[in-house]
Amino acid sequence: MNNRSDTSPAPVRLSDYRAPAWRVSQVELTFDLGIDTTEVTSRLHLQGDPAQQGPLRLDGEGMELLSIELDGQPLADHAWRYTDTVLEVDGVRDGSVLETRVRLQPAANTALEGLYLSGPRERGFLLTQCEAEGFRHITFFPDRPDVLASYTVTLRADRDRFPVLLAGGNPDGEGALEGGRHWARFVDPHPKPSYLFALVAGRLQKLEHDYVTGSGRSVKLVIWAEPDAIGQCGYAMDALERSMRWDEQVYGREYDLDVFHVVATHDFNMGAMENKGLNIFNAKYLLADPDSSTDDEYRAVEAVVAHEYFHNWSGNRVTCRDWFQLSLKEGLTVFREQQFSADMNSPALKRIEDVALLRRAQFPEDAGPLAHPVRPAQYSEINNFYTATVYEKGSELVRMIAGRLGREGFRRGMDLYFSRNDGRAATLEDFLGALSEANGIDLSPYLAWYSQAGTPRLSARGHYDAAHRSYTLTLSQHTPPTPQQSHKQALPIPVKLALFDRAGHMIPLHLAGDKADASGATERVVVLDRAEQQFVFQQVNDAPVPSLLRGFSAPVILECAYAPADLALLLRHDPDGFNRWEAGQQLATRAYDNLRDGDDTRALDAWCEALAALFNDGSLDAALLADLLTPPGEIELSERERQVNPSHVHTLRQQLQEHLAVRIGQEALQRRYESLAAHTNLQLDAASQAHRRLKRRVLELLSRIDPWTAHTLATLQYDNAPSMTDRLAALSVLVRGDAPQAHAALLHFRERYADNPLAMDKWFSVQTQLPGEVVLERVRALEADAAFTLKNPNRVNSLFGAWARGNPNGFHRPDGGGYQLLAERLKQLDALNPQIAARMATAFNGWQRLEPGRRTLARSAIESVAAHPGLSRNLNEIVQSMLHG
Ligand code: ZN
Repeated sequence: MNNRSDTSPAPVRLSDYRAPAWRVSQVELTFDLGIDTTEVTSRLHLQGDPAQQGPLRLDGEGMELLSIELDGQPLADHAWRYTDTVLEVDGVRDGSVLETRVRLQPAANTALEGLYLSGPRERGFLLTQCEAEGFRHITFFPDRPDVLASYTVTLRADRDRFPVLLAGGNPDGEGALEGGRHWARFVDPHPKPSYLFALVAGRLQKLEHDYVTGSGRSVKLVIWAEPDAIGQCGYAMDALERSMRWDEQVYGREYDLDVFHVVATHDFNMGAMENKGLNIFNAKYLLADPDSSTDDEYRAVEAVVAHEYFHNWSGNRVTCRDWFQLSLKEGLTVFREQQFSADMNSPALKRIEDVALLRRAQFPEDAGPLAHPVRPAQYSEINNFYTATVYEKGSELVRMIAGRLGREGFRRGMDLYFSRNDGRAATLEDFLGALSEANGIDLSPYLAWYSQAGTPRLSARGHYDAAHRSYTLTLSQHTPPTPQQSHKQALPIPVKLALFDRAGHMIPLHLAGDKADASGATERVVVLDRAEQQFVFQQVNDAPVPSLLRGFSAPVILECAYAPADLALLLRHDPDGFNRWEAGQQLATRAYDNLRDGDDTRALDAWCEALAALFNDGSLDAALLADLLTPPGEIELSERERQVNPSHVHTLRQQLQEHLAVRIGQEALQRRYESLAAHTNLQLDAASQAHRRLKRRVLELLSRIDPWTAHTLATLQYDNAPSMTDRLAALSVLVRGDAPQAHAALLHFRERYADNPLAMDKWFSVQTQLPGEVVLERVRALEADAAFTLKNPNRVNSLFGAWARGNPNGFHRPDGGGYQLLAERLKQLDALNPQIAARMATAFNGWQRLEPGRRTLARSAIESVAAHPGLSRNLNEIVQSMLHG
């Protein structure tokens, strides 16, 4: 067992929530900034009742306390106590002002939480990251999201070293100081929680744009980046403007300060952060140009810029009462971003991409030792709960509810939610309550989705009664037990559906017991809210094929005994682009089962047949075709196995693609590739992106049956690529095929992009996709490369993350070598950056379902991490849940 009870304090529980004893109305902060040491003076204007509340207790960690005064008087030693994490002060009254002065060491901060240095000390810049509990590393404060205060922030620093000084809020003066120093002040008029505080100081350049809101207010938009990257900010600026316009038009929400600053950094623990008026981005989600970014990355920049901007209302103006409500802002904001991206691009492709992510990242989480509800009941380290469940499943819950209310009803509900909770710290009950009240509908049954972990299984059985021309659909639900939650209740599951005749047409629906006016539509939603329910459709002339959960109307796993021919019919004819893809995924899964079990080949034949027909049907959108031609990934396929052997899964999936390629034919593939290659360009419009996507997929399929030709074409594509999308696709085909040409291409890439960190990340990650066990040698060689460092999260993810998560067959070596290497690096990483170490450790998720040999080896690797002395609370919580969950 573990002997580090010091790193596992009692968990925080939702049921223990109490309103704050002391509040802060106003904060005045003064920073004397320096790379090695920074001094912070804080004046807190306190509100509370000492008779009721007892001494003031403030959070504070890892700071050197220089002085402390209450109401202008130095505090006597007996009047305050500072132990590790809490400062206690006696004698505080309502209206008291507490002044503290602390010293921080930004350059020594490798955890990237609180105030830290990004880049080398000679030219790097200072910045902060406060969510969730970073502010307590900057000054003493009730560091919880339900304490809202207005902030006045003064920054002072050497002018040459820190020409740019930024904080959240509106600018409120600047000027010179003695000794080559200068100052700048910012006032944020909107009360905010401490996790939204931010500052940035250093040598940055800017891209500016004047924006006028719908109501005519002028806002200055400024994107800041280091000098070599400022040329890559144009796309993000456009995306920001589109986001602002969209939120005005779709939600009636305007921006509310005179300036909006956005900053790019290469040293960041997550994607980006919505600090009020001063968003900070991982450069990966802000910088883009055709020479170093792929089409997917462009879309990710647009999505993350929108996400952070949308937080200004869903998160900042209305924030969370406590961290258990995290999905209140994150699930809602992911949903708003998904709607936006669907409006800007193709709705079907966006839905496919999001559901694929949910299945790859969230379903496995919900099925393993780390499973937790969208609103967890307890946590030890809140940073471990920024998960796919809180974000992605949380978004699916909002989507279900929005679907239930309809477009106008949802808008009505959101208007009430925003107006009623503006300037407040709210709960999920406040959210559902406002939506319910504005629509006269009781949404409280949906609360169960927030408290119940695990992915529900929805099973569907159809029965056609020729004599009565009726079709009975029986739906039932079941959620398997998860750690700490063995009993599951029935949830409301909206099932959007259509029925197809044998010619592939949707038929009018006449649901028994329906009002006459709802009758006759070809699509409708039924809600299963019990364990089992029947729905009877009348006037059905022939046994129909049901298209269920259209658009993925609920985050469940559908179990339906379709005949392969039924799925093939949907794959050929369903006008719902998402469900067409979904039918293909289901059919591919059955085809995979055919290969594994070696019994019949009906599904395999049907899948290949239908896709070959679609391949030759020129009317299909090229990007949708590319997605249709891609079977579920290895992680998804593994989820269905009772005992997982990752190398078998890999081999079978490769065979599946081989069958498809053979069925389409070498010649047809090569011809299609060449015609697509002839039209390659640099443009970012949907059609050009779609061509590149299909071209890549066709080349990958070709490489399965004719590697020599595919590698020759890939080499040509690499050499002549006008964009990173084409270059990286070619490189990936060469690496994955272990082609002799890969070596020269990789050398060239390294040379060409040596000074471009985001491109170098791709150089690392593409090589982690080398097939088979040999990739371990490559990973070891790459970590010895001069460009590798454990101190940079993007670099760590591009090597260890891409390998351990993106190449299951390579990571899960039967000799456990992969597990050992990861375990060793986790221990080192934990000493530098606990957040990143904890997230990386989740790569072991699913270990309990591995075949016995690998399972034993994985367990001892995880145990060796658990036994490491001085583990952080972050990593400790993950490995403990992993072992005992
Ligand atoms: Zn967010």
